[in-house]
Amino acid sequence: MTAVIAKKIENLTHAPLVDSFGRTVTYLRLSVTDRCDLRCTYCMSERMTFLPKSDLLDAAELEEVARAFIARGVTKIRVTGGEPLVRRNIMDILSRLSGFLGRGLDELTLTTNGTQLAKHAQQLAKFGIRRINLSLDSLNTESFARITRGGNLSQVLDGIAAAQSHGLKVKLNVVVLKHDNASEIPDIIRWAHRRDIDVTLIEAMPLGDIDADRFDQYIPLSVIRAELEKDFTLTADDYRTGGPSRYWQVAETGGRLGFITPLSDNFCGGCNRVRLTCTGKLFMCLGQDDDADLREVLRTGADIDAALTEAMTRKPKAHDFLIDAPGKAPAVSRHMSMTGG
Ligand code: SAM
Ligand code: SF4
Repeated sequence: MTAVIAKKIENLTHAPLVDSFGRTVTYLRLSVTDRCDLRCTYCMSERMTFLPKSDLLDAAELEEVARAFIARGVTKIRVTGGEPLVRRNIMDILSRLSGFLGRGLDELTLTTNGTQLAKHAQQLAKFGIRRINLSLDSLNTESFARITRGGNLSQVLDGIAAAQSHGLKVKLNVVVLKHDNASEIPDIIRWAHRRDIDVTLIEAMPLGDIDADRFDQYIPLSVIRAELEKDFTLTADDYRTGGPSRYWQVAETGGRLGFITPLSDNFCGGCNRVRLTCTGKLFMCLGQDDDADLREVLRTGADIDAALTEAMTRKPKAHDFLIDAPGKAPAVSRHMSMTGG
């Protein structure tokens, strides 16, 4: 971190980011691109259009915005997208963000689909990244290709192996889909736990238009948990990672299993995070439309600290996700790849 940035941090208020419901924001999801090399069926449509690259925050702006959040008590940043590792200057961005580690920032992490991980794992570890979330919805070559619309499973498995060989702790995120992978979940858990990889199951959320009907994809995780309890003994675990996952220990594998249940068991009361899109729009809630344009603030030299304070007053109480009938419009028109997963 440069002396100028260190000085600017000192000059900020250091007042924590507290919303009107008394929740303190300590966690920023920072999207660096809306682009992706996969087209997961629950995330985006096959013919997705992406933003012009000229709209994106550049590396210096991302560093500046991170600095402002850290000065207000954000201790954890997760870099995401789209697929963060497809952004051309991602290593420059991560290098800049890693400069905040130990200077207010406790943890820098990444969510990735793993396709580019074999190439980058060593450098990620050098930047001080200790843990990554890796999205993997199937271990079957054909269903992986079907869910991702053309993805190559072996590329991702090579990425996981590379990450582990460089000491990165990998956690698998699995979006559970009624027809595509629900029956595969016990095998995914056994496979991952054998490799010392925790697994988190996620309910599909109604974000953006996709080509399929979400009603045909969504399955409540309460159903999946009841099924899993036929094979496994699950014991509640109070482990937390700062995210919304609730964890269970699996006696038969010795591993940990998380459940993210935005629809069947809302967790908004404990929300500690906000999301910044790659174009600098700050969304105080994944499932609502209100945003604060931080790119405008950065580019006009306006007071970013004041903008953050004001944005916090608009953090909504909760999302309104519901998938209870066929043909329903999504809760918000933005895809997860746009807001930053
Ligand atoms: N491309 C990276 C990846 O797939 O990990 C990072 C971005 S992706 C948008 C972040 C996470 O959001 C992934 O775990 C993905 O499975 C999840 N996701 C995307 N769309 C979703 C949806 N509609 N409902 C639930 N999870 C979703
Ligand atoms: Fe890409 Fe991640 Fe969305 Fe899949 S979930 S299409 S990998 S952004």
